[in-house]
Amino acid sequence: MTLFNTLTREKEPFTPLDGKTAGLYACGPTVYSPAHIGNMRTYLFVDWLRRALLFAGFAPKHVMNVTDVGHLTDDADGGEDKLQKAARESRLDPWAIAASVTERFFTDTDSLNIQRPEIISKATEHIPQMIAFVSALLEKGHAYETSDGIYFDIATFPGYGKLSRLDLDAQQAGARVEVNPEKRSPFDFALWKKAPKEHIMQWESPWGMGYPGWHIECSAMGLQYLGERFDLHTGGIDHLPVHHENEIAQNEALLGHPMVRVWMHGEFLLVDGGKMGKSLGNLYTLADLAERGFAPMHFRYFCAGAHYRSKLNFTWDALDAAKTSYNRLLTAVQAHRGCTDGASPEPYAAQMREAALDDLNIPKAIGTLWTMVKQPGRSQAVYEAALEIDRVLGLRLDTPPPPADEQELPKDIQALADARQAAKAAKNYAEADRIRSELKGLGYELTDTKEGVQCKRIR
Ligand code: AMP
Ligand code: ZN
Repeated sequence: MTLFNTLTREKEPFTPLDGKTAGLYACGPTVYSPAHIGNMRTYLFVDWLRRALLFAGFAPKHVMNVTDVGHLTDDADGGEDKLQKAARESRLDPWAIAASVTERFFTDTDSLNIQRPEIISKATEHIPQMIAFVSALLEKGHAYETSDGIYFDIATFPGYGKLSRLDLDAQQAGARVEVNPEKRSPFDFALWKKAPKEHIMQWESPWGMGYPGWHIECSAMGLQYLGERFDLHTGGIDHLPVHHENEIAQNEALLGHPMVRVWMHGEFLLVDGGKMGKSLGNLYTLADLAERGFAPMHFRYFCAGAHYRSKLNFTWDALDAAKTSYNRLLTAVQAHRGCTDGASPEPYAAQMREAALDDLNIPKAIGTLWTMVKQPGRSQAVYEAALEIDRVLGLRLDTPPPPADEQELPKDIQALADARQAAKAAKNYAEADRIRSELKGLGYELTDTKEGVQCKRIR
């Protein structure tokens, strides 16, 4: 198996440190608002990694944190705690927000056929470990106290910037005016924040009441569950320059050696070619997809079309094409079931295995899968080879395809179509026409056929 290591910028052969158990720390969700499809792309990438490890015969020990405190709005140490902000704006309790967003996160990942990690660790349940970590960094002279917190002193860690290959001197020269004059360098980052009164989540510490920084959370929980040296650490590409750089500084300042062997980063999902954002009105969740008639598997198949280190652009048309293609794939796979006319799974089965273990080349594996199932002839052996590679793909290829005429209309659309039928039956043609144009505005067209009125999505 090979994996691309961000640290070396190279594809490297991979075997776990102990030959069997692959320690994997995956940066988890910040649970202040429901995860969007961009977040889900990153967890799909981690799932393909996890499944490939299993496929290669290793046993993942997969740890994922849930960040329920301490992630500030600007990722470094400026702004407000995202949960505190969500609580203030919604007038809800941050604990209640965290609980409901976390629950929804796992409902979503389950629906995407993303396997659950062995260990799910909430930041708020590991505060003593974080305090111990920060205390040790202070003792070793890698941190200092200011009026608002404890900061990591990057001047004491010469390796700072090695993951993102930051040129610190160049950056320092152009650094923005520092908002916190007590910091020794603009790159120093908060390990612990002293809590203002209004900060709801706060804990006692040697430095008074406060809460942990986001970066120390992952270092402390990684150390706790995976130890001083472990195999793999993942996150989205945005985590590379700040969050993971800071984790490395904390880990290596404490231990005197690297904690993580292979760092892996998933590229971003774009929407209509650009960034996703609440204010841009293009931040979609799986629920938004469901409302337009797309199942989680359609999104999984859509993401499987791009390698995890490439950007992927989401559009409704592209998702629609993925849905069609996925349903065709199910049909093509099913056609082989129980057949005996000699079509061979080779050389495709071997090529698919190779692709899946070659830095998770999922798109290549799917391309080969298509070639295999479309060859002349039908055989159970081909069906079984498809299910074998599906252990990595996770596309539920044993599912029978939906009937071709199944419309899968979202509930509200079906209700409108029914209301129009009722209006027509009552000879209220004005109302029937009004509903028809309302449906059109929503992207659905009604056509009269021999079997009755059909409602079809047109965009
Ligand atoms: P957060 O909940 O903000 O901590 O993010 C959860 C995960 O989603 C992190 O690994 C991020 O790097 C990742 N992520 C955020 N936005 C995107 C995006 N547009 N595409 C892919 N991954 C993303
Ligand atoms: Zn993290």
